[in-house]
Parts: sequence; C-alpha cells; structure tokens
Amino acid sequence: MNWQELSSPEFGAIDRATPVVLPVAAVEQHGPHLPLATDRMIAEFFAEQLNARLGSSVLVLPTVAVGCSEHHMDFPGSLTLTHETFASVCEQYLTSAQRHGFRNFLVLNAHGGNRGVCQVLLEKFGAAYHECQIAVASWWRTVTEALAPLNESGPGGVGHACEFETSLLMHFAPKSVRMDAIGPRANDMPTYDWAEEDLLRPSRVSLYRSMKQISLNGAWGDPTKASAAKGKAIADIVCDALGGVVADLAKK
Ligand SMILES: [Zn+2]
Repeated sequence: MNWQELSSPEFGAIDRATPVVLPVAAVEQHGPHLPLATDRMIAEFFAEQLNARLGSSVLVLPTVAVGCSEHHMDFPGSLTLTHETFASVCEQYLTSAQRHGFRNFLVLNAHGGNRGVCQVLLEKFGAAYHECQIAVASWWRTVTEALAPLNESGPGGVGHACEFETSLLMHFAPKSVRMDAIGPRANDMPTYDWAEEDLLRPSRVSLYRSMKQISLNGAWGDPTKASAAKGKAIADIVCDALGGVVADLAKK
C-alpha cells in the first residue's frame, strides 16, 4: 500500500502490525551520465517493488528525497540537508506513523551519506518507543555477499554512479542514463590502504573526503561495466532480501 494513495477511512482500517517503510534518499550529482535524482529513484523503485510484491502487507511512506550530501556540494545541482534537519524530518515521519498506531518500521536508505544519521535515528527511536520495532537497511549492505559475484569491476568499482547504480537505472529507467557520457573509472585520487572502500567492501578506518577529492568527474567506480541485465539481477536480489526483512517485522 502507498500511504499517499489511500483515503483516510481506508487508512483507518489498516492492520497496525503492518510494517511501515520509510524510503530515504538524496538529490545530488551522479557523475556525467546519471540524473541528480538517482538515489531517490532507486529508493522509490525498491519501495514500489516491495509494494507490488507484498500488497496489503506493507505500507510505504512518502520518500524523504533530500538527504545529507554536504560532501557533494562542490558539484552543480546537489542539494543537502544538515544532519540535524535530516534526522528531525525522518524522526517526525516515523513518529507521525507511530501516533497512528503503527509499531513496525523499516527505514530504506539509498545514500551512503545518510548512514550515520540513520544509525542515530535507529538508536534514538528504538529507545524512545519500546513497543515498536525499527530496522534500517541500506540496500547494498542488505545483500553484500549475494551481490559480490555480479561485481566485474573489482575493488573500488562500486561506489557512486558506479557499476551497480548505473545498472539499476539501465534496468528500470533506461531513458535517464546518458549512455554516451559513461566513461571509464574515475578514481583519480587513492589515499590510504586502510581508507579505501566501496559499496561491497567497507573500509577498516573511516577517512573524510569530499566527493571532489575522491573523483574529479563525480563518478566513483566503474560504470563501463554496467548493464540492464545486471541491474535486474541486483534488483531481484535486493528485493528478495528486503521482502524478507519486512515479512519478519510483521511477525511481532
Ligand atoms: Zn547514488
């Protein structure tokens, strides 16, 4: 079910054990070949897939489209909220749902820069509302091991506007991909062995770098290895995993 499409009386009749999904994303540069809305599109695609699969067993909130993207502001078009504003907006979406009696929540995150705030949100909301369950999923972390065999570009190839994000958009929004602008790997500025990471391989130690320090063209990884078929494979794996999480949350 989509929160916004229901009438108020229809809404009133929903089983309050139904898990509520909050998609959170970003509107920021995604290199020369993907739109600014990439993370929002990915978050909403996964939410729509959950809705299609689970029907009345899931309830999808409106997306928090703009996230924490200060590290992308050197690039034209990026938007950002402060950590405090983003946390506050997400918390108030969740508490609105909690006030309507819902108790099972999944925050579905599509942007790396939101991870820290989402973890704080999880800990604060979970402690404040003992009767509730809250879970946070960043889509790539949910299924890292299952996604690894799809990765052709190797370490550093799946970061941002990369092999995986580009594949997903080729799968579900092919017209939004500027195919002639897809270039080779643009990891221009490696740093320390312990700080290097990508979506599938977390770093051992976190090191702050702005996106411009990681990649001059704003793409981090290797989008030349992207394909629509790979995007469908990624989507199937992620949707299976997220569907399992939502089904488990519904049991309480
Ligand atoms: Zn992205």
